Amino acid sequence: MTSEPYDLAVTGAGIVGLAHALAGLRQGLRVVVIDRDARAAGASVRNFGFVTVTGQQEGLVWRRAMRSRDVWALIAPEAGINVHQRGLLMVARRPAAMDVLADFAAGPMGRDCQLLDQAALRAVAPMLDPGLLGALRSPHELRVESRDAIPQLTAWLQSQGVTFLSRTAVRAVEPGAVHTATGAVRARHIVVCPGTDLVSLFPEVMARRGVTLCKLHMLRLADPGVRFPAPLMSDLGLVRYLGYQGPRLGALEAQLRAEQAEHLAHCIHLIVVQHADGSLVVGDSHSYDPTPDPFQPRAIDDLMLDEFRLVTGQRDPEVIERWVGIYPSGPDVAFTETVADGVRLALVTSGTGASTAFAIGEETMADFLGHEPPPHAQGV
Ligand SMILES: Cc1cc2nc3c(=O)[nH]c(=O)nc-3n(C[C@H](O)[C@H](O)[C@H](O)COP(=O)(O)OP(=O)(O)OC[C@H]3O[C@@H](n4cnc5c(N)ncnc54)[C@H](O)[C@@H]3O)c2cc1C
Repeated sequence: MTSEPYDLAVTGAGIVGLAHALAGLRQGLRVVVIDRDARAAGASVRNFGFVTVTGQQEGLVWRRAMRSRDVWALIAPEAGINVHQRGLLMVARRPAAMDVLADFAAGPMGRDCQLLDQAALRAVAPMLDPGLLGALRSPHELRVESRDAIPQLTAWLQSQGVTFLSRTAVRAVEPGAVHTATGAVRARHIVVCPGTDLVSLFPEVMARRGVTLCKLHMLRLADPGVRFPAPLMSDLGLVRYLGYQGPRLGALEAQLRAEQAEHLAHCIHLIVVQHADGSLVVGDSHSYDPTPDPFQPRAIDDLMLDEFRLVTGQRDPEVIERWVGIYPSGPDVAFTETVADGVRLALVTSGTGASTAFAIGEETMADFLGHEPPPHAQGV
């Protein structure tokens, strides 16, 4: 094991760890990233790769998403990462959903978004179900294929001088040193980004912050033979994403409780993203447990497919892949906590890491180096 001192040691090579490594690199630091796995296999490669801005909680989270989207856009060409889709079509199946979208469009976060009525939506997306009432069209989002993008980002960081120690479990962290199964790594600054491991490092912080785990069902569908103009979401998403809260959300919620109680019971909302080969990633459901069971009951997948049919008008979707993903979940959307001198624990506890991690990495680095908070985090 190397005893060479680094400026920054990062535990965890998921997007949160990589984002910190990038922020450190940009500050001219010598960076090492340590992960127990041979390659990324956690939430960061199981997700939609959907860098979502519209719908994020108003304030810091929304600004983090805007900033992270910009970093993705900058880094993607350098790292050879393809951006497969841009923007978002949040479609409405119910008048109550159109009301929520209209309120959002009229508010500050809706400034660059467009409210589409039924005819306008048909012009933009003629392949969708003709019964849809309209949509909010957001220009902000971008979408990468995470199972390609995370290894590409890792390889690019490596090419820029970041050291990666894989198949190396971190057993303990103290100021100035990360203790691994094969020896100590010394570093002035240390960030621990352990994703779903809530018990190995700083379990008392995880417990105090009420962190548990959330399991999600995901599907890949065969190319339906049409190209959607943007990632799609629907009415169910309006009640899950905090950014849509407003005076008329309650009416939609009540209607959904009456009409789609089973979907709500499994915390299902629809996200549909499309790959360059035409295949679709469709999800997702949410269930909460510190030790999620490993199973993927088909009944829950079928509920997701029901909503997919109602939105896309695709009657016969062919499922070609199924998987579950797990992310940490808690009352904070995300947190970074000083756990010892020069040591920070960074966790995204809301399933928004692909959308916000780059901004969080910049905040941690500014804090370490005694700089002003980055512009997106000022005034907080
Ligand atoms: C199905 C699904 C869909 C999602 N969709 C989206 C989306 O569309 N948009 C979005 O913004 N977010 C989405 N998310 C959330 C996002 O994927 C997560 O917030 C993000 O990936 C978390 O990144 P991470 O680096 O914390 O975790 P991970 O990717 O899980 O990485 C953690 C890493 O830490 C390593 N590690 C842990 N403990 C140790 C240790 N002691 N020693 C060494 N290594 C260790 C693990 O091996 C792992 O590689 C989704 C999540 C899931 C599961």
